[in-house]
Amino acid sequence: EKVFSGFSKTRDNLAVIDELLLYWNLDDTDRVLDELEEALLVSDFGPRITIKIVDSLREDILAGKLKSGPEIKDALKRSVLKLLTEKGSKTELQLGFRKPAVIMIVGVNGGGKTTSLGKLAHRLKKEGAKILLAAGDTFRAAASDQLEIWAERTDCEIVVAEKEKAKASSVLTQAVKRGKEDKYDIVLCDTSGRLHTNYSLMEELIACKKAVGKVVSGAPNEILLVLDGTTGLNMLPQAREFNEVVGVTGLILTKLDGSARGGCVVSVVDELGIPVKFVGVGEGVEDLQPFDAEAFVDAIFP
Ligand code: GDP
Repeated sequence: EKVFSGFSKTRDNLAVIDELLLYWNLDDTDRVLDELEEALLVSDFGPRITIKIVDSLREDILAGKLKSGPEIKDALKRSVLKLLTEKGSKTELQLGFRKPAVIMIVGVNGGGKTTSLGKLAHRLKKEGAKILLAAGDTFRAAASDQLEIWAERTDCEIVVAEKEKAKASSVLTQAVKRGKEDKYDIVLCDTSGRLHTNYSLMEELIACKKAVGKVVSGAPNEILLVLDGTTGLNMLPQAREFNEVVGVTGLILTKLDGSARGGCVVSVVDELGIPVKFVGVGEGVEDLQPFDAEAFVDAIFP
């Protein structure tokens, strides 16, 4: 697996830390930690985590446990890693043993839902799985066209609504039934992403979840929430709402290649206690990487 390459903007934001720590000495601690704090905030680690990290560094410095710039930097990286692994350790897909496994992809429009679904289909297929796509975004006419393009691109079969204004839950039921009959390994379900404040969207997602559970018990095995990485900490309220309503099992953070706010990854994991499973680092079919906390920390801290 290639190391994360899509975090250069966040890395640029945090590059200042290296300079700061290079010339660090004990008398300079307050100023250095203030600037470190600023760099973390600018990268959207969020105030709570930033303060937690900086306070613990300060304590260890004053207690004489950290005696040099490199030691401080190591401690910083370790504390970020700890935050990520404590609450977000299950980064692998949990697909159970019944076939087909069902993965529902949810999130608001424009966040990268369809693209991520396509990339995920490509990845899982490469791993040898027989994949069926389900066009569960019946609200937007263009959505199933877009998914059909991904079906072609990844050479996967797809189930789309037979008539206009079909219910999302019926399309997913049909897809999972077919998945069962034709012995698919995984059914990847797209869903609608009207504004998350739209009550009926949440109702629809609940109905979808119930519907697939009626066909295969235990389904959906994963409900992956796609979040737009360029929105930084603004993704939090949205993520909370989706989680409260449908119970999110994993996150896909997209567009991190174009975001200087990569610190939000840490914040969102800490706040929600949900693991990041994949990150999107580009628009190509290969640009979805399984999340690896260690690689992430190495990628954002130069
Ligand atoms: P949806 O409305 O949530 O289904 O969003 P789409 O999948 O249509 O994506 C919206 C736009 O974001 C498209 O132009 C995608 O190519 C782009 N996009 C999605 N994921 C990524 C990513 O990881 N990196 C970049 N740079 N662009 C992305």
